[in-house]
Amino acid sequence: MRIATALLALAAPTTMLAQRASAPVRDWRATHEIAIVREMNALLALPNITRDTAGLRRNATAIAALMQRRGIATRLLEVSGGPPVVYGELKATKATRTIVLYAHYDGQPVNASEWQGGAPFTPAFRVQRDGKWVDTPLPDSGRLDPEGRIFARGSGDDKAPIIAILAALDAIKATGGSPSVNLKFFFEGEEESESVHLEQTLRTHAALLASDGWIFCDSPIHASRQLQVVLGVRGSMGLELTVYGPSRALHSGHYGNWAPNPGILVAELVTSLRDADGRILVKGFQDDVTPPTPKEIAAARALPRPDSALRQELLLGGTEANDALLAERLLLPGLNVRGIRVGNVEGAAANAIATDAKASIDFRLVPRQTPERIRQLVEAHLTANGWYVTHAAATDQERLTHRKVVRLVWGGGDEATRVSADSPLATALLGAMDEMLGKPILRVPTMGGSLPTAVFEHTLGVPLIVFPIANHDDNQHAKDENIRLQNLWDGIDAFAAMFTRLDRFWPRTTP
Ligand SMILES: [Zn+2]
Repeated sequence: MRIATALLALAAPTTMLAQRASAPVRDWRATHEIAIVREMNALLALPNITRDTAGLRRNATAIAALMQRRGIATRLLEVSGGPPVVYGELKATKATRTIVLYAHYDGQPVNASEWQGGAPFTPAFRVQRDGKWVDTPLPDSGRLDPEGRIFARGSGDDKAPIIAILAALDAIKATGGSPSVNLKFFFEGEEESESVHLEQTLRTHAALLASDGWIFCDSPIHASRQLQVVLGVRGSMGLELTVYGPSRALHSGHYGNWAPNPGILVAELVTSLRDADGRILVKGFQDDVTPPTPKEIAAARALPRPDSALRQELLLGGTEANDALLAERLLLPGLNVRGIRVGNVEGAAANAIATDAKASIDFRLVPRQTPERIRQLVEAHLTANGWYVTHAAATDQERLTHRKVVRLVWGGGDEATRVSADSPLATALLGAMDEMLGKPILRVPTMGGSLPTAVFEHTLGVPLIVFPIANHDDNQHAKDENIRLQNLWDGIDAFAAMFTRLDRFWPRTTP
């Protein structure tokens, strides 16, 4: 909460975007705000808790109906055991390019009693008064406070883009425009459950999904409230490890300096993997790391810098690598210690040498690194450092015959993706967005977190760019999830500009 407040200080004037957007689209939206919100609220009133098969199907059917009403050729893509993907196509006359728009309609589980009003599926329009969000009835006509928000599960993450896309199509039609590229829509219902059937769906329908690239409409925008184009995501991989000491806890006075101490061993192991400045020390690790290009570094440096506001809020006297910029640090691979557990502390502390210690680690990957290769390198590094590596619980015999034993349990991993700002899809999207804004849109070379974007690139062989619209403080996955109306309006403007102007900025390839 405190972080969000500080970052608001960076916020750009909210009217800037609207003034630059295509005037007819903006005017159309201004006279249809209440209708758009009512349509969104009807969708938000359908419970969409991930894995709730019946509820998700009601959502899919409702979204399909909204699409059909717009003349989109719509069908449900079914896989056994998973919720349907709502798929649609809208062909543009004489278009030679096709993009696919991704959003997801499922949401995280809710604890209704924690929510203001106690009803996450009764969408509430609220405006802020004296620091409190106050329920406000939707008027029958007129404009809505753009700082007002709709509160409901799924509002920010991730039904708002679906509504914004459909409203943009309405606005284009009503203002006599037409899309300049063929549009395909892929609205998933399983994103909050690790997209278990996504790869299967993409494989099964690869021909149907043929395109020049995907626009992935999920996640929140920049904390400065400015729209952004996110060209990459980092990959991820988890590791749980256990190092072993004596088979029973020992008196630290009688046996200290003699029995190996798991607390010391786990510290030694972790610091052998990574130094205090984030450099990963695993031999060969850097070989697969494509260094950020000068252009990517320049793009990261050009972004608004939340660094000092964050430092204030987080009470940090300094940050890693000599206070290097956050946006630049995200261009690099990372190794984060999620937790270390050994023995007990404070009131529960005992003068004992523990039997084992555990650490939980997550790696963040950059392009060209694969989870499989990370695994090989880390295991070779540990072996070279005298560790006996096992993947099952260490046996008595293993503990007896090796000085240092570590058990590694690897989690599944996602690879990173990163699209060059010079690629055709990025050139077209950036061109259309720059034109709409009348200034360069924020170009984020990569987000720090991970999304399953690699599965799209691998399965379909096409680039993917993340284009979020939700406010950064949308409480996604938490209580009181919301969408700020100005973000919805900006999203509509952006999608309208994207659909109508993309082809104009698409580089022509000479035959
Ligand atoms: Zn999401």
